[in-house]
Amino acid sequence: MSEIQVRMFPCLADNYGFLVHDPDTGATAAIDTPEVEPILRELDAQGWTLGYVFNTHHHHDHAGGNLELKERTGCRIIGPKADAARIPGLDIGVSDGEEFRLGSRRVVVHETPGHTRGHVVYHFPDDRIAFVGDTLFAMGCGRLFEGTPAQMWASLGKIAAWPDETRLYCAHEYTQSNARFALSVEPGNEALRRRAAEVDRLRAEGRPTVPTTVALEKATNPFLRARSSGLRETIGLPNATDVEVFARTRALKDAFK
Ligand code: ZN
Ligand code: FE
Repeated sequence: MSEIQVRMFPCLADNYGFLVHDPDTGATAAIDTPEVEPILRELDAQGWTLGYVFNTHHHHDHAGGNLELKERTGCRIIGPKADAARIPGLDIGVSDGEEFRLGSRRVVVHETPGHTRGHVVYHFPDDRIAFVGDTLFAMGCGRLFEGTPAQMWASLGKIAAWPDETRLYCAHEYTQSNARFALSVEPGNEALRRRAAEVDRLRAEGRPTVPTTVALEKATNPFLRARSSGLRETIGLPNATDVEVFARTRALKDAFK
């Protein structure tokens, strides 16, 4: 089996668009549809034919290009069954634990409610990659628009349980501001300090900080680190539950300037 190919390109103000391609069969999917033109340009540049869109959630910067892309390419749209009414042009609804194939590649769907009720992520377990939408960001996580802290904590836990080397493609370039917040709540985390410096260097060169990995996130993402005694101490919850620590951390981030 040849190596799976992922193309990543900026869309809108701070989104990333992604194409994932199985060279053995030619099967190609776009992850979300933030903007149609960059997706079509990338397909053209690679000489790939779009078969599918995999939607993570219904927000406009993720599903706003669905109908136009479907009309212009004839692709089929896969997305969360739970949110069928809010995903434009949905052809195939998928739910938690469901497995399907993109060409020869296994894809497993995980429901990750929190940012929205119906959010799903797409894990390619044999290729050690995943598209996590607005559930997890590098050193951050999505805002809780429609879910509870307990739901989001459980959703992030599913991602953290994958193998360390799994590459995580998140949908926004928020890393630099996430790093500033992370340092404010866990200033003693040496891995975090090193990473924040590396991120500053990459951004100064105009380079992306995505993808990240499960290992990096477990070491530096405060939203996966509710058990960290340093974090607990900084936010004043030494003996709280993990969900309480997560909820406080998320609330602090919402207010962080
Ligand atoms: Zn969103
Ligand atoms: Fe988004």
